[in-house]
Amino acid sequence: MVKVEYLKDQKVREWYWKTIRNMLGKKRKPSPKNKLEKIWAERLSDCKIMYDIIFEELSVLVLKYEWIKEYVDKCKKNDYVAGNNIISQYINANMLSKEIRLELIERMGVRVCPYCNQQYIYAIRFYGDDGRYLGDLDHVLPKKAYPLFALSLWNLIPACKSCNQLFKRDQQKEILSPIEAGFGEDCILKIKYRSINAIKGASQEFEVKWEISDGNNQSKRKQKIANNIDVFKLNELYEGHKSEIQLILWKKAIYSNKVYQNSIKRMLNVISGGKLEMENFLFGIDLSKQKFGEQPHAKMIYDIVKYN
Ligand SMILES: [Zn+2]
Repeated sequence: MVKVEYLKDQKVREWYWKTIRNMLGKKRKPSPKNKLEKIWAERLSDCKIMYDIIFEELSVLVLKYEWIKEYVDKCKKNDYVAGNNIISQYINANMLSKEIRLELIERMGVRVCPYCNQQYIYAIRFYGDDGRYLGDLDHVLPKKAYPLFALSLWNLIPACKSCNQLFKRDQQKEILSPIEAGFGEDCILKIKYRSINAIKGASQEFEVKWEISDGNNQSKRKQKIANNIDVFKLNELYEGHKSEIQLILWKKAIYSNKVYQNSIKRMLNVISGGKLEMENFLFGIDLSKQKFGEQPHAKMIYDIVKYN
């Protein structure tokens, strides 16, 4: 639900490509035994093709290579067992050692799980240890069904354990990838009030729901967002944060009072243009959209402040 930017980061790309080439160079190549194996051996030994598979997004890949389109179509129907068996001998998620994963997650710089925007992701290194990390690398297109993309940077998303291991797992519903976009104004967290006390933040008589707007007609994107909400159980997860939501509603109700606003202004010694500083002070986070990925619940707080 929050966009990530590391695919475009030149330093991350350079480091990852060097690592991949080094890793694949050390691997003993299987010798092709039949026509199908020969085709894949030729494709995957081509450095330019491998580079594209690692870095080009799927929408570009299917336009560039007709056979990738065919491959994706076959995998969608679970109809490419023989081909995938061969591909797995060249490309395999297990080739990423724990050390490489740790360094990749550090370099990606994603602080909070982009799927739920709730859990922190961070790598910890202990002296004398090869490091630990809190967070998995999720494959947007599952590695079992699409081994060709098991090492593709555009397909690897740092995610919390709940999102990766409990909710998403190997399922193939088409979701909105955080590489592609986050939830924008077209999907916001709505609070449905059942009492006036809830509006003042005094009671929990309200419902919490992610709502997809009808504003634009990109039905494919809408369906993907709906799948994210369903796959990652976002309605159920955020329903569990009513206490935090209640606190924001309460602060928002108080903030609407001019006398209070002026006293905060005086306290923070800001001029009338300092709305952002005041909001930061009051709601505890930076409400600029570019910071959503750095702060847990940032999108939730933003939507409550701006739209509820
Ligand atoms: Zn998560």
